[in-house]
Amino acid sequence: MSLLKPRLLIDDVIDITPELLRTHGLCGLLLDLDNTLIAYGSYEDRRELDAWVSDLHLAGMKLYLLSNALPERVRYWTGRLGFDGVGLASKPFPRAFRKAADAVGLKPEQMAMVGDQLFTDVLGGNLNGMFTIMVRPLADNALPHTKLARRIERLVLKRYGHAWHGRAPHSAGR
Ligand SMILES: [Mg+2]
Repeated sequence: MSLLKPRLLIDDVIDITPELLRTHGLCGLLLDLDNTLIAYGSYEDRRELDAWVSDLHLAGMKLYLLSNALPERVRYWTGRLGFDGVGLASKPFPRAFRKAADAVGLKPEQMAMVGDQLFTDVLGGNLNGMFTIMVRPLADNALPHTKLARRIERLVLKRYGHAWHGRAPHSAGR
């Protein structure tokens, strides 16, 4: 298995249902924050997330935020969303992935890492034996290293035949 290959590509995180997770034998999600759940750097609510989170919780799914963002930002969103998590996670390095799985009491293979970036979220999830789900980024951030990473991501995904990733972030169409 290639370490850069996501198991699933989806358009929006809220398309992940309890049924989908059960189909793949999963009991929990490690969730990236920026451009996966919330537009990069934003503090604006996405109301549709509340119903999505409660559906997953009602189905017994464990959720945990795993972000490379600053802890203050992550604390704001864990409080707002109603589940735990950590910032400065140094994805794709394994330490935070293992601690997160321990924190929710699951084995890595029972969890999916969900994120919008190949070299942090997908690579880290695969390195740690998790299922990986890649989402189309909610917004474009203008950081030069992200732009470079996006170009390489497109090359890698194209090689796997995932042509959808050539599409613009959600915000570009709004
Ligand atoms: Mg992200």
